[in-house]
Amino acid sequence: MALAHNLGFPRIGRDRELKKALEAYWKGELDEAALRAVGQRLRAEHWQLQKEAGIQLLPVGDFAWYDQVLGHSLMFGVIPERFRPHSGRPTLDTLFGMARGVSQGGGCGATHAQELTKWFDSNYHYLVPEFSAEQSFALSWEQLFEEVAEGRALGHALKPVLIGPLTYLWLGKCKGAAFDKLDLLERLLPVYGEILQRLAAQGIEWVQIDEPILALDLPQDWKTAFERAYNLLQKEPGRKLIATYFAGLEDNLGLAAGLPVDGLHIDLVRAPEQFPAILDRLPAYKVLSLGVVDGRNVWRSDLHAALAILQQAHERLGERLWVAPSCSLLHCPVDLSREDKLDVELKSWLAFAVQKCREVAVLAKALGEPQAVEVQAALAESRQVQESRRASPRIHKPAVQARVAAVTAQHCQRQSPFAERSARQRARLNLPLFPTTSIGSFPQTSAIRLARQAFKAGKLSAAEYREAMYSEIRHAVQVQERLGLDVLVHGEAERNDMVEYFAEQLDGYAFTRFGWVQSYGSRCVKPAIIYGDLSRPRPMTVDWISYAQRCTDKPMKGMLTGPVTMLMWSFPRDDMSREEQARQLALSIRDEVVDLEAAGIGVIQIDEAAFREGLPLRRAGWSHYLAWASEAFRLCASAVRDETQIHTHMCYSEFNDVIEAIAAMDADVITIETSRSDMELLDAFERFEYPNEIGPGVYDIHSPRVPDSGEMLKLLRKAARRIAVERLWVNPDCGLKTRGWAESEAALANMVAAARQLRRELAG
Ligand code: GLN
Ligand code: ZN
Repeated sequence: MALAHNLGFPRIGRDRELKKALEAYWKGELDEAALRAVGQRLRAEHWQLQKEAGIQLLPVGDFAWYDQVLGHSLMFGVIPERFRPHSGRPTLDTLFGMARGVSQGGGCGATHAQELTKWFDSNYHYLVPEFSAEQSFALSWEQLFEEVAEGRALGHALKPVLIGPLTYLWLGKCKGAAFDKLDLLERLLPVYGEILQRLAAQGIEWVQIDEPILALDLPQDWKTAFERAYNLLQKEPGRKLIATYFAGLEDNLGLAAGLPVDGLHIDLVRAPEQFPAILDRLPAYKVLSLGVVDGRNVWRSDLHAALAILQQAHERLGERLWVAPSCSLLHCPVDLSREDKLDVELKSWLAFAVQKCREVAVLAKALGEPQAVEVQAALAESRQVQESRRASPRIHKPAVQARVAAVTAQHCQRQSPFAERSARQRARLNLPLFPTTSIGSFPQTSAIRLARQAFKAGKLSAAEYREAMYSEIRHAVQVQERLGLDVLVHGEAERNDMVEYFAEQLDGYAFTRFGWVQSYGSRCVKPAIIYGDLSRPRPMTVDWISYAQRCTDKPMKGMLTGPVTMLMWSFPRDDMSREEQARQLALSIRDEVVDLEAAGIGVIQIDEAAFREGLPLRRAGWSHYLAWASEAFRLCASAVRDETQIHTHMCYSEFNDVIEAIAAMDADVITIETSRSDMELLDAFERFEYPNEIGPGVYDIHSPRVPDSGEMLKLLRKAARRIAVERLWVNPDCGLKTRGWAESEAALANMVAAARQLRRELAG
């Protein structure tokens, strides 16, 4: 028999109870005791759910009030000076202060929150630990031990989950004087020692230590540090399972297998090629945990395929084999049984966290009792699901596949090179130097959201809803004309979300009611699910954009979401490569681009906000990804005439290592986020001699502050020193949907004034 265990369970609650409790606490509507009670109830419920599903060793420490990395910072006493409590120990409010910033009364100004960034290649965001050169570490937070006591009182077999010392340091950032954060390792390790001793004293046998960075390209000194660290931790009590996930160990396989700990977990969903190689590398005393159930997606496992691997491992390892999801289930929605609106067939293809636990358990059981009735039933059901997915005409559309197969290099190339296109566009659009525009969305007011809700609830007719949106468009156009912008947008009032809006109109996408996944803190997202071949049955935006164009003589910019972003922010299929799905999405968007052009729209923006996010964790995979990702963009953008101007937009600030792929997208204009980096990121564009037009954002839209035009002018002058003036656009960093109208109008007015001033300077 192999042991069924879990690496982590979603903490947010199947009805997002944690989110609701946190937000009520922050508003002062719930006191701390009540908030803590919600946490305790959720932990108890989640343990119970996992246990009932058949998980034998339950994770503890996977619960977090905001984020597990932040929880570790509290535990280690890594609390930046600005948040340190005046007296005594940190409190829950210290934790929330670090996560959300502190606005102080009495005019002392605000304390900014810790930085938030992506957890590896997932859409979960963690709070970046801040280290100083004099950083010290001390056990400062009792949550883990309290939760262990809580779980033991409930009679559970528990396995505490810790982020390992090397991964924790890797995720942090050095502040102040420069130093090597690896130098902090020796100071940090004693705290791990203390934690392991405390857990052992609580009767804990196994501890899971997550070291996902073992699946990254590591510098040599970090590899060496792994050996040093675990040689030191070896003498501490408790059996240790090192968990790796999200990618293969590759060159670190020998290192990981050889560390002096008692077990190793590997992700066989993301990196199946690690098996069976791992069997020959693993020392004979170690437990091997195989992650065979996908913790990053919503599909039911192919139990036969997983079992074939597990049986092979079981023959070699016997009791030393453990079965698990590929990674923590944090990245999955909680419970499929909540979905009462999904049709039966589609639902039968899916598994959320609770269902995935059952899969893990039944696989473990199948090794010891292959004839057990429940094992046989689960295997039969799994076979049926796989067969129905393989053959379903809802998934497999010959017309879509034929179209993808017929794509040639020519489909991915504009008619003429940029120089010729730009001359034609100039003649058609007749724009001034430093043309001004915005990124697409205008404030999503509560009136807009209420109208959409009423429409979805059937309380507003389609005609009434359309009229309400038309009136928003008219308003947006009037404001932009009054402010004197050059290329207008319709404002995206009709869009709840830049991916969902399109996904809802494509064939091949499905939606859940409760499929929430934590993004950060109390924020959750409900990604759409790509289940089948994708196509666009009818135009998605043409009516809105044409209406907007009829409201003005200025050029109106059509607004679409690009194929890579559509893919990255959805649950993708697991029976088709990402690149193939991107190509199907690209063809769907291409149809929309063509229809917009035919409707007389001369400027079309295709947002690729998630372009960089798609990068594989390992460098070796980058060039392949960048090639198909930029090709997918060209495929959707290249069916138009030369005089139709294609824009793209990306809102982040690291371009250095992907600038060639961005140039290869061959958009006529790219708008990017630059204001917070003080135009520094334009260095990449200058060094590379980026050939097309660029709109570096001249003001930060993340804050309600209205910058004056002098500030923007300074940034623009800086940009003009790096980029030829005839290729420069003027725009904010990103869309204005989270802003109010008053501040947006004021900021855009200043932006237009800055552009005009620059034009005058150049003329004079
Ligand atoms: N066009 C979108 C908007 O303005 C772009 C959003 C984004 O880049 N995240 O809202
Ligand atoms: Zn943006």
